[in-house]
This record gives sequence, C-alpha cells and structure tokens, in this order.
Amino acid sequence: MLMKAARLHQVGTDFSVDEIAVPEPRPNDVLVKVKTCGVIPNMKNVIAHYAEWFPFLPLPPLPAIYGLDAAGEVVAVGDQVREIAVGDRVYVNPGVSCGTCHACRCGQPINCEAYTFLGYFGFGPKSTEVFQSYPYAGFAEFMTAPASSIVKLHDSISYEAAARFGYLGTAYSALRKAGTRAGQSVLISGATGTLGLGAVMLALGMGATKVFAVARNVELLRARFKSLSCG
Ligand SMILES: [Zn+2]
Repeated sequence: MLMKAARLHQVGTDFSVDEIAVPEPRPNDVLVKVKTCGVIPNMKNVIAHYAEWFPFLPLPPLPAIYGLDAAGEVVAVGDQVREIAVGDRVYVNPGVSCGTCHACRCGQPINCEAYTFLGYFGFGPKSTEVFQSYPYAGFAEFMTAPASSIVKLHDSISYEAAARFGYLGTAYSALRKAGTRAGQSVLISGATGTLGLGAVMLALGMGATKVFAVARNVELLRARFKSLSCG
C-alpha cells in the first residue's frame, strides 16, 4: 500500500509530495493514520538552518519526513503491543529515548544519548540510529512510533487540540522543574501564545495562587484572559 508523504530531498528546496510505501509496525511499534500535525515556528529553522547552526544535532536523513506533534488513529500494532489497540485515538509523543540506559532508568530520558524528537531533530549522538528506526513523522499519511510514545486521547479531545500537546508538555515540564507548588506565585512570560497560555492554566492547576502573566501585546493579553475569566 502506498501513502503520500511531504519529503525534503535537499536543504533549501521545497518539500515534494512523494508516494512511498506505508510502513509496517515492528513488534513494539504502532502504525498511526495521521489526522493532524503541529506546525511550529521553529520548524523552518530546523529544516533550513540546523545542519549549519547545530551540526552536532542529528537531523532526519534525506529524503526526510518532518512533522512534530502528530495525532491520529491507530490502524495496526506490532505483536508485542499490549495496551494500544487498532481504532484508538492517539497523540504521538515525539520524544523517543532508548529506554534502557542509566539516564532513561533514572526517569531522565532527555539526558539519554538517543533522545530524539521524531520528525524534528535529535539531541544526542545515538539519535541517528533512532531516525533510521523511525524515519516517519507527521507530514505523512501514516507514521510508525514506539508504543511507549503513544498517548491515548479522551473522546472530548479533538485531534486538532491534541496536535498542540507538545506545547502543554513543554510548559508542564518547565513548571515542574521550577518546583511549582500550591500557594506559590508564578511569573509567565509570553502569556498570549499557546505555550504561555498553557503555562498559565497549568500553573493554576498545580495550585499557584498568584500568576503574573506578561506579554508584549496588551490587547491580546486582555482578550486571552477575558476568555479565561481571570482578572
Ligand atoms: Zn536511554
């Protein structure tokens, strides 16, 4: 079976929509039919400039499929996958690590030498191997991912909303690292974008009693917080 995939063949050129084979999920993988995918501002830098700016950060090998924060429906699972089933509505967490090194076992996958954002870029020398195992991403009709990267979606969450989960995860991680607890005051800069607004809501959910929201556009800030029914 064939699928369409937007692929970059050469840095500095446009994507071309190619027809390639739909991948088969390996034993611990799932195959997701992509419904939505995030398009984040930094993606253009990754595609056009990261090879030059950050040569130590591995990129998907060319021809490359990019696409961070995909959501869709599971259409096949490997024979070792237990908790995910065909028909599940899911978000694909792009963060993949080896799962077995010291950092991974200490609950710090971001320090794994293989830590990689599928469809974006890798953080460590072993990311190159991850891209070989997972050359698919959100700008294609189907993608494979490890079952451990799959987040099931509640029926109330649309695919469009799920494709923004990366922002909420980033905001949540930052608040956790900052040790946000009940009763604290929190300052959020850039509080009109998805990341900042998500951080404001998460801070409230984590018990912060005072949130200082800062942004460049006062009108937009007012409008955002009016819709949140905040002061
Ligand atoms: Zn690891």
